[in-house]
Amino acid sequence: MGKIIQLDDVLSNKIAAGEVVERPASVVKELVENAVDAGSTVIEIEVEEAGLAKIRIIDNGNGIEEDDVLLAFQRHATSKIKDETDLFRIRTLGFRGEALPSIASVSKLEMKTSTGEGPGSLVVIEGGKVVTFEKTTSRRGTDITVTDLFYNTPARLKYMKTIHTELGNITDVVNRLALAHPDVAFRLIHNERKLLQTSGNGDVRQVLAAIYGMSIAKQLVPIFAESLDFKISGYASMPEVTRASRNYISTMINGRFIKNYPLVKAIQDGYHTLLPIGRYPIVLLNIEMDPLLVDVNVHPAKMEVRISKEADLNQLVSETIKNVFKSKILIPTAYSSV
Ligand code: ADP
Ligand code: MG
Repeated sequence: MGKIIQLDDVLSNKIAAGEVVERPASVVKELVENAVDAGSTVIEIEVEEAGLAKIRIIDNGNGIEEDDVLLAFQRHATSKIKDETDLFRIRTLGFRGEALPSIASVSKLEMKTSTGEGPGSLVVIEGGKVVTFEKTTSRRGTDITVTDLFYNTPARLKYMKTIHTELGNITDVVNRLALAHPDVAFRLIHNERKLLQTSGNGDVRQVLAAIYGMSIAKQLVPIFAESLDFKISGYASMPEVTRASRNYISTMINGRFIKNYPLVKAIQDGYHTLLPIGRYPIVLLNIEMDPLLVDVNVHPAKMEVRISKEADLNQLVSETIKNVFKSKILIPTAYSSV
């Protein structure tokens, strides 16, 4: 008799959750990304106690049909890719089919969803086990509430930092999603206090103003450049507007926020000696490129990517920033010294 057993779904989802659901901010990220992928134009995020007590996401996207609702909570179940060809041409934020089963396995979750045709569905899942699944009346869209996150994974719960830190991570996630999707109206509420609201009118500068304040937004210069393989656009702060942390440099590829140190370095190189030592600019850089040239399937959280022709991209970024400030700063300085 062999010793190897196949783990059941509840247990294997809990194991996957270890990677996908690191902290409350990961739940917010995954659920808001689902709402974006569903074509929502309005997304409301309500959190209590930095998400440890409650996370609720309400969207007006295309909803899930009754037949698909339980399937959506199965591991590797997705409507976003069908085959290997799709995997190399990812256009959506999700594709791994891991978020819903992972989140549901480490929390108490309730979801109301409707496609707007016929009745909607209500599903309640606790620790990965379906407690209720029934028809309900609901408008088009999805309303999902996650309570008692990590109630059944005590080690992970203990690892949580202060409310302040966890909330900071949540705001970062929502700010970035709002920047990447200026055509979606976002509202973030923590313990009944509104932390962010965007209009969804498509104007990135207005989103930047909502996040960093109007006076900073006014000192951001638009950047734009195109090469054969890449199109880059965004905003970069005047060199005198700096911060003590690199966190204000946000980079995204095809609408997905990514962490890539060489890219951040390329941005800093663009400023060259204009930045004081230990100070960093505020930058939003959006890269559009053929999805075939970027591998997002590196880590479950999909923040790390591998970029083909990375050196070309970094050079384009550095040069673009350098050129912007050559014209923006040197000319006014020359005038003022006259
Ligand atoms: P993935 O996003 O990688 O496909 P998820 O586990 O996050 O995997 O979601 C599983 C599926 O459930 C999605 O592919 C999608 O079809 C559906 N889904 C999840 N959230 C929503 C939502 N807010 N609106 C509409 N459909 C959703
Ligand atoms: Mg998803």
